[in-house]
Amino acid sequence: MKMLRILLVCLLVLSTVPADAASPTLKNGYTVKTTKLYWRAMQSSPVAKTLRTNVPVRYVPYNRSWSNVYIGSTRYFTPSVNLKAGIPKMTSSERLRLVNKQHGLPSTYRSPQLTTLTIPTVYQKGSEKTLMTAEAAYALAKLYYAGRKQGHTLYALSAYRSYSTQKSIYNYWVSARGTSYASKYVAIPGHSEHQTGLAVDMTSRRMRLGLYESFDQSPEGKWMLQNAHRYGFILRYPKGKERITGYNYEPWHLRYVGVKEATLMKQQNWTLEEWWRKR
Ligand SMILES: [Zn+2]
Repeated sequence: MKMLRILLVCLLVLSTVPADAASPTLKNGYTVKTTKLYWRAMQSSPVAKTLRTNVPVRYVPYNRSWSNVYIGSTRYFTPSVNLKAGIPKMTSSERLRLVNKQHGLPSTYRSPQLTTLTIPTVYQKGSEKTLMTAEAAYALAKLYYAGRKQGHTLYALSAYRSYSTQKSIYNYWVSARGTSYASKYVAIPGHSEHQTGLAVDMTSRRMRLGLYESFDQSPEGKWMLQNAHRYGFILRYPKGKERITGYNYEPWHLRYVGVKEATLMKQQNWTLEEWWRKR
């Protein structure tokens, strides 16, 4: 388990560091408070950039008290006390945020913790569809490797979706099929759970990397539905709960809520709506 964790951390680091032999070994970390980045060490002006708390960064110690933070290929300096190694943790209210037809997100909402998934994705890395909040992305990697160990290879099709993407999808269907069709099958902008950065649609080669209800009959889908809670994911739109969730059965749509709550919801057969009502 410890080896696996080390391997996962290595994979997370390797996948985000450009393959340049001259570049320093960067650590994955996050900002522990609002963090000002400077162009030079030991110099507190001018401020080059300000990062919020819990933003994932790649960094390397520069001297005893300062570190280099890399954003893309640009190097900044900041006091090392602003940084912590590892994966940024969410608060439980962020982790359990309810987004559905009744509860929306502001159009400007975008988690500062979005990072690129390390598992195989259908879309090329760089697409917003391959982003998830760091804690959820890390948990999804654990789920993926556990599946691989049992001979099941899962792919992430669609994870994060911005408000503006959802808006163009919705508008497309309104113009193609009318408002009543669109509102039945496509979330109104601000009401898609994918905007939280905690949701992901999963698939497999057997599903030709698409989304089909028969996924729940495939070995990969069966395994995923039985085990996702161990890694903090729930099936967000189960069969028989359509009137509670407001959505048709989707055996591919996982939502990250954390291991403890996912296990409880699985045991009690609760949707996220029911968890909010009954907890
Ligand atoms: Zn989905």
